[in-house]
Amino acid sequence: MKKYCEKCGKEVNTKIITQKEIYDVCGEPIEVEAKILVCEKCGEEFFCEELDNATLVEAYNEYRRRHKLLFPEEIKEIREKYGLSQRSFAKLLNWGDKTIFRYENGSIQDKAHNSLLLFLRDPENMKTYLTLNEISIEDKRKKRLLSYVEKLEENFEVSAEKRLLNKLLFKEPCEENGFRSFDYDKACAMVLFFANKNPELLKTKLMKLLNYSDMIFYKENGKSISGLQYSHLPYGPVPVKFDILLGTMEADKVAHIEVIYDNEFEKHQIVPDKDIPKDILSKEELKVLNRINKKFKNFGSVEISNYSHKEKGYIETKKGEIISYAYAKDITLD
Ligand SMILES: [Zn+2]
Repeated sequence: MKKYCEKCGKEVNTKIITQKEIYDVCGEPIEVEAKILVCEKCGEEFFCEELDNATLVEAYNEYRRRHKLLFPEEIKEIREKYGLSQRSFAKLLNWGDKTIFRYENGSIQDKAHNSLLLFLRDPENMKTYLTLNEISIEDKRKKRLLSYVEKLEENFEVSAEKRLLNKLLFKEPCEENGFRSFDYDKACAMVLFFANKNPELLKTKLMKLLNYSDMIFYKENGKSISGLQYSHLPYGPVPVKFDILLGTMEADKVAHIEVIYDNEFEKHQIVPDKDIPKDILSKEELKVLNRINKKFKNFGSVEISNYSHKEKGYIETKKGEIISYAYAKDITLD
């Protein structure tokens, strides 16, 4: 991008540098790596709204992680799970009309509000809230919401496989899972997305596609999509306990593996047993998956494996080690 530099007195080439900066978020100093547009010649800083906003979002996200606050995306997910508009959700919670709108658009929520949202994430708690609380929505609406919640609860019953999987993969949000606890439904939706879009998808390629999707989404939103952890194996980053995850998906009739033979080689192909589910992945998440899919469309398993070997997160970890999402910031797609 060219800009007019006042110091140099002419149109100049620009570049982006990173520099540690302290932001004040809710009265707390938060250090972030700010991206700044500067003159390539003299280093004069230019104002760039896009970069500025990105840094601010990064500072807010760091504050959220520090204080275990829900992310805007997660608040939206809770609301949408109950099929509520922003306004009616706010009303249900006895909050101001615009409160949910503001939180979903990036304002930091009040701590008490955060606790209530966390509590209501579980349908069972929502039922208690609706039954035992004085709430200011019409009876008809309340009844409808209650029957909705009961349906959600039925879907909540989990298979033995899923319980085992959660036990193995569940972890408090941290750098290893991209600050999201493992989410089986999202992981299934991601697998179905790629398996449905790529008729001959091999397991080795799928693992890389999942890794790039989670890392890039984390880089841009401060959270992973699936909460999967990835470890460093000889063929690139691999989701932890991936075979157990695939086994569970097979038992749940989500997707299964077919072994095919190509000359002497045994290949593991992922075959979807369902369409891509609606309502599990957010619009933003789908956007990232589409980008990843497009980028690696014509990459074979070997090519994508070689490509992933060049990532800093892979180079700086040893065999068997978890690749932290902190490395996501070094990944660029083009
Ligand atoms: Zn200059």
